[in-house]
Amino acid sequence: MARANAAYYADRDPFADFTTAPEISQIFGEIIGAWAAVVWEMLGRPNPVILAEVGPGRGTLMADARRLTARVAAEFHAASALHFIETSPRLRGEQARRLPAAQWHDDLSTVPAGPMILIANEFLDALPIRQFRHEGEAWSERFVADGAFVELPCDAPPHLDGEGILEVNETSDRFAADLAARLVAEPGVALILDYGSAENPGDSLQAIRSARPADPLQAAGQADLTALVDFGAVGRAAASAGAGVQGPISQGVFLQRLGIFQRAERLGLGRSAEDAAGLMAGARRLVEPLAMGALFKAMAITPPSFPSLPGFAA
Ligand code: SAH
Repeated sequence: MARANAAYYADRDPFADFTTAPEISQIFGEIIGAWAAVVWEMLGRPNPVILAEVGPGRGTLMADARRLTARVAAEFHAASALHFIETSPRLRGEQARRLPAAQWHDDLSTVPAGPMILIANEFLDALPIRQFRHEGEAWSERFVADGAFVELPCDAPPHLDGEGILEVNETSDRFAADLAARLVAEPGVALILDYGSAENPGDSLQAIRSARPADPLQAAGQADLTALVDFGAVGRAAASAGAGVQGPISQGVFLQRLGIFQRAERLGLGRSAEDAAGLMAGARRLVEPLAMGALFKAMAITPPSFPSLPGFAA
């Protein structure tokens, strides 16, 4: 599965298969830009500050965020150095067209030391999972062989509770722990947005091809393979590195607290009725529970005992 997804992202345009919040509404990136500017104040206005994004896709979120901060948070804007963590050469090219000042990295380890604000939207769901089955006393792990699932008996995996199929994302747990250690030491704050649950999601592997569900076994390398993010596991990994964790809360609540509807209304003033309605429809899609508002969650990783971040406090 890991390899299949790396091949998929390396040379395809994933946005032919699925869409993401920043591609739905410019307001998403703008709100995150404003959020980052407030978080920068809370960190004590470090200058320079690293503004990092993991898996920036087409660069849309950051382009929208930067356009806003240039206007309303000039000091933060000028203090921030852009760093992108991205493995796809094709998407790096798109990001470079929109944000030529950024620097690129294969992973967190080469991002320079110093205070940091990091954004990860729909990144963790793309990392490879392992699936285990727990029935009574017996554990087995699921593999793919000759185009079918096979289950081979194994020892009980550490830290795994529950019955039936359970998922583990070791890459995501390691990423969260490494990131958290850094945010404690430097210091800094990370915002993670993704679809997922507060508990182990069970069997959530899915393949998306041309915006439709596909068979994960048939579509290797040609479909986007994803699994729900286990925010409980991400939070435990971050906490075990000594970091503070805020959330997860639903994306809908987070964006509403940050004023997404007020922003949509203001942007609509002076535009055509059709454009204004489109802005409001985009905002609703991100917030409404039956659209993206409930399945998607927001979580933040902070230094220990950090005050409540915008959007996370009622
Ligand atoms: N954040 C963007 C894109 C989400 S798609 C958006 O919201 O539109 C997932 C992104 O993560 C893509 O940019 C993909 O190339 C990148 N990616 C996938 N696996 C990665 C890895 N192991 N390291 C760094 N980037 C990765």
